[in-house]
Amino acid sequence: MAGSKKDIRALTKDQLRDFFVKEGDKAFRGNQVYEWLWSKGAHTFEDMTNISKETRNMLEDHFVINHIKVDTIQRSSDGTIKNAVKLHDGLIVESVLIPTEARTTACVSSQVGCSLDCKFCATSRLKRMRNLNPDEIYDQVVAIDKESRLYFNKPLSNIVFMGMGEPLMNYNNVIKAIDKITDKEGLGMSPKRIVVSTSGVPKIIKKMADDGVKFNLAVSLHSAIDEVRTSIMPFNATFPLKDLKESLEYWYEKTKSKITYEYVVWDGINDSQKDIDALVQFCKYVPCKVNIIEYNPIDDGRFQQAKNIAIENYIYHLEKNRIVVNVRRSRGKDIDAACGQLANKS
Ligand code: SAH
Repeated sequence: MAGSKKDIRALTKDQLRDFFVKEGDKAFRGNQVYEWLWSKGAHTFEDMTNISKETRNMLEDHFVINHIKVDTIQRSSDGTIKNAVKLHDGLIVESVLIPTEARTTACVSSQVGCSLDCKFCATSRLKRMRNLNPDEIYDQVVAIDKESRLYFNKPLSNIVFMGMGEPLMNYNNVIKAIDKITDKEGLGMSPKRIVVSTSGVPKIIKKMADDGVKFNLAVSLHSAIDEVRTSIMPFNATFPLKDLKESLEYWYEKTKSKITYEYVVWDGINDSQKDIDALVQFCKYVPCKVNIIEYNPIDDGRFQQAKNIAIENYIYHLEKNRIVVNVRRSRGKDIDAACGQLANKS
C-alpha cells in the first residue's frame, strides 16, 4: 500500500530534477522519469526500461504512482461512453466521452462530489469528498483519448470541465492538469479546445484573467435575475450577479476571449418575458454566446423542461439583439451520462 510514500506525479519537473541531484544522480534523470510518468504514461517504475534497476528500486522506496483505474464503462445507444473511475483511495468519479461526426469530447470531473448545491443537478446530492489531484484529472483525459482511438479511430479533440465538481473551487489543480494536457511533454492539446465551465466564482475568474489562461470560459448562468438564480443556485447569494458581471468584464478586458453562457429553461421557473429580458440585458455586458441546454431530469418534480414555445421565445429575442444562441441536445441520457446526471449511481 501507499503508506507514507509520496505520489511521484505531485512533483514538478524541476522538483524531480532536484530530487535526483540530491540522490547523487544527474538532473537529467529527472527529465527521463518525468517523460515516463507523463507522455509515456508509465503505471509502474518497472515500466521505465531505460532507467537502471537500482534507480527504479530507489524510486520504489520513496514514491508511488497513483494511477486511476477505469472501473466500469457504460455505452449509450447514441455512442456516448461513461467511465466510472476509481481513485487510489477507492473513491469514484465519472467522466464521459461524447462522440460526434466532427469531434470527440471528453467531459471530465474536477472534484469528488461537489460543494455547490444547484437544485437541478444530481452531483449536488453527493457531498464534496475532496478535490482531484492534477494527475487524476489528467488520467481521465488520457483514458478517454485511448477510448476515442479504440472505438472511433481518432484521437480526442476537445475537453470540457463539465463533469462532477466546480473546477474553480479546485483551481490550482485544474490549472496544473491543463498545463500537462497542453504541454508538448504531456498530451500537447491546444488550450483553445478546452472549456472550463463554472457556476461563477468572481475572485477566481479575475485570477484566471490575471494568469493569462488560454482556454475558453463557460458560465452556468440559468438566470440573470438574482432572486431566481439564488432560488435554484443558492451559491448565488454569496456571489451575486453584480459581482459575476464585474469579474466577466475584467476577464474580457484582459483575455479578449468571448464567454459562453449555459442556460437551461424550466417551466414556470425562468420562462417568462422578464427572464428573457434580463438575459438579453446581461448578454450586452460582455461579448458572449448562449448555449441553451436541454434539461436532464433528476427526479425532482419542481424542475421540468420548458415548453418549446418558451425556448423559441428566448431564441427570438436573443437573435433580435444579435446574440449568438445554440440549442444543445443532450447526449448519453440512457446511461445517466448527460449534464447534471453524474452521481455514481452504478
Ligand atoms: N460546476 C460546473 C461544472 C459542472 S455542471 C458548472 O456549474 O458549470 C456542467 C453543466 O451542466 C452546467 O452548465 C450545469 O449547469 C449543467 N447542468 C447541471 N445539471 C443539469 C441538468 N439536470 N440538466 C441539464 N444541465 C445541467
